[in-house]
Amino acid sequence: MTPPESDARRAELARGYTAVRERLDAAVAAAGRSPGDVQLLVVTKFFPAADVRHLIGLGVRTFGESREPEAGRKIAELRQADATDAAVAAAEFDMIGSVQSKKAKSVARWARTVHSVDRAKVVDALSSGVQEACDTGSRSADLGILLQVSLDGDPHRGGVTVEELPELAEHVRGAHGLTLQGLMVIAPVDGAAQRWMARAQEIHAAFVSDHPDARELSAGMSGDLEEAVAHGSTCVRVGTAIMGPRPLVSQ
Ligand SMILES: *Cc1c(COP(=O)(O)O)cnc(C)c1O
Repeated sequence: MTPPESDARRAELARGYTAVRERLDAAVAAAGRSPGDVQLLVVTKFFPAADVRHLIGLGVRTFGESREPEAGRKIAELRQADATDAAVAAAEFDMIGSVQSKKAKSVARWARTVHSVDRAKVVDALSSGVQEACDTGSRSADLGILLQVSLDGDPHRGGVTVEELPELAEHVRGAHGLTLQGLMVIAPVDGAAQRWMARAQEIHAAFVSDHPDARELSAGMSGDLEEAVAHGSTCVRVGTAIMGPRPLVSQ
C-alpha cells in the first residue's frame, strides 16, 4: 500500500508533466519541427528520490540535477532501492548546474552529460573523473559535454563568452573520455526571451559550422521553453512547471 500523500504527489506530478508535454508538443509543432527533435529533461533538484520514482512511473527517462552531492546520493538511493527495476536502470541523469573541480570526480560517476562546462580546469577534472569511473566500473561510456555560453556576460549565471568558446571547445576535443556535444544557455529573466534565444541560435549556428558533430543546444526552462524551441533548442530543462516550487532548504 502506498500512503495517500504519495498518491496525491504522483497525481500532482502527472498533471505538471502532462501540461509541460502539451506545451512542448505545441511549441515543436508551431516551429514546424519534428516531435523527436527536442528532448525534455525534468529537473528534480531539491526534490526527493520518491519524486524521481513517480516520474519514472509516468514514463520519464531523462532528468536534470544541479547540485552535488545531493544528486549522487539521490541517484544511488534510487538505484539501490529499485535494483531490479529496468525502468529505473534506464533512467539517465544530466548535470545542469555548475561543477566545482573537487566535485568532478563524483559527477563523472553518475552523469550522462554535463551541460554547464565553462572552464578548462573543470574539463580536466571531469576527464580524469571519467577515467577513474571507468577503471572502477561505475561507467562505461564517454561523458557528454555541453559548453555553457553566457548570453549577456553576467558571471552570476556562469558561461564563457563567445570569444572564449573556440579555445574551450578545442580543449574538450583533446580531453580523454569526453565527447563534445554542443552548447547550453540560460537566458536572463528580463522579459526578452525571444531576443536572447535568437542570439543563442546565432551563436549555435556558428558553433555547429565549426563542430558539425556537436549539434545539441540545451536551452529553455519553465518560463521560456516556447521561445527556446522556436530558436532551435534540442533540449529543454524544466523544473518548476512540473515539480512545483522548489523547497527553500539549504543543503
Ligand atoms: C533549476 C534549473 C532549471 C529549471 O528551471 P525551472 O525554471 O524551474 O524550470 C533549468 N536549468 C538550470 C541550469 C537550472 O539550474
